[in-house]
Amino acid sequence: MEKISVVVPCYNEEEVIPLFYQEILKTIEKMKKQLTFEVIFVNDGSKDKTLQEIRTLAKQDTKIRYISFSRNFGKEAAMLAGLEYATGDYITTMDVDLQDPPYLLEEMFRLIKEEGYDCVATKSTSRHGYSPFRKFCTKWYYRIIGAISKTEMIAGARDFRLMTRQMVDAILSMKEYNRYSKGLFSFVGFDTKWIEYENQDRIAGTTKWNFWKLFSYALDGMTAFSTAPLVLSAIIGILFCFIAFIMVIAIILKTVIWGDPVSGWPSLACIIFLVGGVQLFCTGIIGQYLAKTYLEAKKRPIYIIKETEKM
Ligand code: UDP
Ligand code: MG
Repeated sequence: MEKISVVVPCYNEEEVIPLFYQEILKTIEKMKKQLTFEVIFVNDGSKDKTLQEIRTLAKQDTKIRYISFSRNFGKEAAMLAGLEYATGDYITTMDVDLQDPPYLLEEMFRLIKEEGYDCVATKSTSRHGYSPFRKFCTKWYYRIIGAISKTEMIAGARDFRLMTRQMVDAILSMKEYNRYSKGLFSFVGFDTKWIEYENQDRIAGTTKWNFWKLFSYALDGMTAFSTAPLVLSAIIGILFCFIAFIMVIAIILKTVIWGDPVSGWPSLACIIFLVGGVQLFCTGIIGQYLAKTYLEAKKRPIYIIKETEKM
């Protein structure tokens, strides 16, 4: 019989894990005629009792496997570790907070099996439950990255998806350190079916993302999947050279025609500030890419495992 691996990253989710387990069991029960299951919890350096909860489940139920990190490495690292650890023919990644409802797996599996897709991905139709500010930033982020990146980024896409082994192997062949899954999933191609559902509220616990974490994740996505900001700084450079050239000619003409009374230092000070600012901005953009390259070059491990169910 074929097997589905369910990869679940967890960071400080002690209250949610038992609830998630009950819910996924219902789905496993419904699909047990066609499939076997393994559920891989990835404990991303939680500081609460998440690991104890997972250990308890793994002792009772052989379908439960887990990886526990030596510290918090972030959701991207947790998903990667889970995908590498998974042994199934089909692999799904989902959040533990039940914002990605497990019952959808039945329909997702049917689409892959009967309609021949390689991947069934989900997006939420509304962002209900998120603050208006977060909604606004998300909307504009997808517009900008859509315009500057060749890799297609779907607005509202969640990390909840079911993939074939072939597609997961393609994703695992990309060893980059700065991982941005939404981009990687899209980069590898394959036939993807998008299904939509209403955004669900988190069942318990709190979100692990604050504004700065999301902001830096968004920047990671941009630098990982677009070099347009570098082009932007080059364009600004050319534009400023052009303006300077026009100004030089204008000043020469003015001096020749009307003479040169000394005045205009305030405007000079403004120009110096403006040009200085633009230069720093462009250096900053280049610095971003350089920093990413530096991290890639070091080839540090993306995560470090401290414990698994086999230990
Ligand atoms: N998560 C993780 N490591 C982190 C942050 C989050 O493994 O550093 C997990 C978290 O436990 C959850 C999923 O990623 O299963 C999504 O996180 P969350 O629900 O807090 O994000 P939101 O749904 O608010 O975007
Ligand atoms: Mg969530």
